[in-house]
Amino acid sequence: MTTPTSSPEDPKKAAADATAGRSDKVKCIPVYFYQPGRRLFHAWVTMAHEPGTLARILNALPVPTINLFHLTASDGSHNGLSIAHLYAEADSKTTPQELGALLHKLPGVIEAHVEEGIDGLLIDTSYPLRITRGLQAVVFDRKQLAGMVDEVREKFGSGGAVLLYDQGLALGRESWNEFLKLVGRPFAVQHLSYLGNWHSARGMGRMEVLDFSLERAVDRVRVTDSFECIGHTAPIPYSQLLRGLIAGLLSTLWDSPVTCRETRCIAMGEPACEFEIERISAEPVNEILPG
Ligand SMILES: [Zn+2]
Repeated sequence: MTTPTSSPEDPKKAAADATAGRSDKVKCIPVYFYQPGRRLFHAWVTMAHEPGTLARILNALPVPTINLFHLTASDGSHNGLSIAHLYAEADSKTTPQELGALLHKLPGVIEAHVEEGIDGLLIDTSYPLRITRGLQAVVFDRKQLAGMVDEVREKFGSGGAVLLYDQGLALGRESWNEFLKLVGRPFAVQHLSYLGNWHSARGMGRMEVLDFSLERAVDRVRVTDSFECIGHTAPIPYSQLLRGLIAGLLSTLWDSPVTCRETRCIAMGEPACEFEIERISAEPVNEILPG
């Protein structure tokens, strides 16, 4: 559930809503920034994972000489340390060393480093990249990934489609095995509608679990804006990789092979892709019911 932060008649909100994309919950991963003629800084600050430390850092930035335009911070609850990445425009006089020294002396700050971009180009030199605080990640833009998938289908035809489905299935199983170790199967079963966001959070498309019946071992999933199907026109459902990923998810959850059929598809002119997943094992599923 989301909580509105302003009333409908709020003029600030009305102005903001008029801006394209405002209603989307867009999240940007900082890879590079380019503002020709500007001085761009990247500060990364190792800090104590304590309430107030990040606020102290933000309050210490001298406005208007340092204008913060992007911020990320890691979850440090597991080891007591967080890393904040600040991306800011600096005036003509401030040096990276000065900003680093200012940040370093703040209570709760363990280490602070600042780098400057070149002629308005700032490429993020942070490495490695991690999903939340765990598995290492690689970022492609969706167009690149969709292009790679299309090429497999174009070069290998129906064999390529099978290969993509199998790859999706393996990826889905592997990822969900890891995730189920974290939250446990009963929790995942109980909150499957919410866990559909796991795919959305990775940018694959907005996933909703429409219907889930443990007793009948049937599930219906809708994906809007699927990276695989959008932009394509096809007489039959188009998804292979994402269909495999969804099958991997449910087969891990049900601890059984499944069938996964795409029943509606954006490529066929529908507003969203929909999938029906069915458990094909005769074994009872009662043991994974939430206790
Ligand atoms: Zn589709």
